[in-house]
Amino acid sequence: MDRETAEQAVRFGHENSSGHLDISFFGGEPFLEQDLMFHVIEYAHSWRSKEGITMPLRFFATTNGLLLNEDTIRRSVDAGIVLSLSLDGHGACHDATRPLPDGTGSFARIAENFPALLQICPNIQVLATFSSRNIKFLSEGIEKLYYCGFRHFSVGLNYEETWSDDAVATMRNEYKALGNFYEERYKSGNPASITIFDSRIASHVNKSCERCACCDKHDGEIAVAPSGNIYPCLRLVKTDEDHSVLLGNVKTGMDRKLRAKIMVESAREWHECKECGYRGRCFHYCGAVNYKVNGRWNQPPHILCLEEQCSISVADEIAERLYKEKNPLFMRRFFPGEWLLR
Ligand code: SF4
Ligand code: SF4
Repeated sequence: MDRETAEQAVRFGHENSSGHLDISFFGGEPFLEQDLMFHVIEYAHSWRSKEGITMPLRFFATTNGLLLNEDTIRRSVDAGIVLSLSLDGHGACHDATRPLPDGTGSFARIAENFPALLQICPNIQVLATFSSRNIKFLSEGIEKLYYCGFRHFSVGLNYEETWSDDAVATMRNEYKALGNFYEERYKSGNPASITIFDSRIASHVNKSCERCACCDKHDGEIAVAPSGNIYPCLRLVKTDEDHSVLLGNVKTGMDRKLRAKIMVESAREWHECKECGYRGRCFHYCGAVNYKVNGRWNQPPHILCLEEQCSISVADEIAERLYKEKNPLFMRRFFPGEWLLR
């Protein structure tokens, strides 16, 4: 992306947001263009102060960690960037899906920076995506990363591939094993935050599913490609020749009717979900995932349906046991009212 387009995107984001604006740098790998990234941040601050704009603004970046070093980590944090690290587990587990161009694994190189990363960003979130190729390492991978010092994990599956019955059975076993680890961490007094369980326990307590903040809240999300082309979500960025979900360009404007249509379609509940007992707690509203897998904005992938049923069941079993024993950390986190009244 050239600087002019990036600056235009900053202005476009402000003009199309009301409550607040989050700017997330994504790729590929955003640190390949770190000079541009830091320029965008400086530009945003100077343009906002010239225009007298006070709308809250935050910056995020998801990185594969390969170009990080102590200086880049510190510079990012000083610039106000909230970093997330894409790590698909530990060691061979990560290497199975993220090889370097020469075919060797990338984990060892990223791990060199763990001490600096955890010292400067102790609450960094690990984004771990598992496929049928490395699902058997899921619980072991997260557990090892925990003992490296990470505490916050966003765990998900690759929904775009075909999952065999064996791979689904492995997924179920691994989610149970990860659930045991999560429970045991609460009992030890050093809990880990693992999204698939945290959000399901929260949805039991609050009786509703926390929808994805990026799409459902406030003004929603758009993604801007290097050409300035606008797409509904970063998961849906296409090549410039593919106009199937193109919403416009930051230089010429956005087709708001098409965007609204996509959001309405995504929010329309899939007919098979209407009678489901997991309804309201299951996250089947991601239009990007649904569209990529099924060509419909509201039809969830089969593997997502199986995963949701599994993770909600495991989370409920864990929560029941921790609630019964009135685990202090669990109660303080999920039932603060009861905890205060004890
Ligand atoms: S578990 Fe499956 S059927 Fe039930 S709401 Fe979720 S996606 Fe729909
Ligand atoms: S389509 Fe999915 S990933 Fe994209 S912004 Fe919406 S909920 Fe988030």
